[in-house]
Amino acid sequence: MEKVNYGRMLDEKLAELTRTGERPALLLHACCAPCSSHTLLYLHSNFRITLYFYNPNIAPEEEYLYRRDELLRLVKELGLDIPVIDEAYDPAPFYALANGLEDLPERGERCQRCIALRLRAAGTKAAELGADYFTTTLTISPHKDAAFINCCGGEVAEECGVAYLFSDFKKHDGYKHSIELSHQYSLYRQDYCGCVYSRINKEKACPAEG
Ligand code: SF4
Repeated sequence: MEKVNYGRMLDEKLAELTRTGERPALLLHACCAPCSSHTLLYLHSNFRITLYFYNPNIAPEEEYLYRRDELLRLVKELGLDIPVIDEAYDPAPFYALANGLEDLPERGERCQRCIALRLRAAGTKAAELGADYFTTTLTISPHKDAAFINCCGGEVAEECGVAYLFSDFKKHDGYKHSIELSHQYSLYRQDYCGCVYSRINKEKACPAEG
């Protein structure tokens, strides 16, 4: 089967919006500040963005709050006047979906369910707000399966009645740019994906000294 070029799909959409002068409303699901940095700069001239911080996978709560606060700081320092909706910390839906899948490696079924949970919440919120599109910053990560994320986004769009903005934000050196911006704004760059299982795996791979 031919591989879909999601980066090109996004570029074609941006070129179309630039040509027509339209600036639709986009609900952008954000996993953290570093992944949002390049993505925001890439999209903001073509979309009226609202950021959506919904990540019940993140543990512990202090980590969740720290990632959220870093996102708020980034938005302020970029001076983009973008509203941020952040949900109260409630990891219960994540633990319900991860039940029995705790030992699976990253990119397995637990991760697919985790991504689907967040995309479904973003699609639902986008419908509630009357947004024209929704999407997620998650495709910027080289550790994530962009094809899965985009397929899932397309399915959620059908359920919610809001268009999904297909994307691959790592294209055009997007990931590299996010690292440069993280240095420029001194952003916290976590060394584990987010859930307690990814944290345990990270600690096993790189045990703390002493
Ligand atoms: S490793 Fe990341 S994507 Fe996978 S379940 Fe944990 S937080 Fe979600």
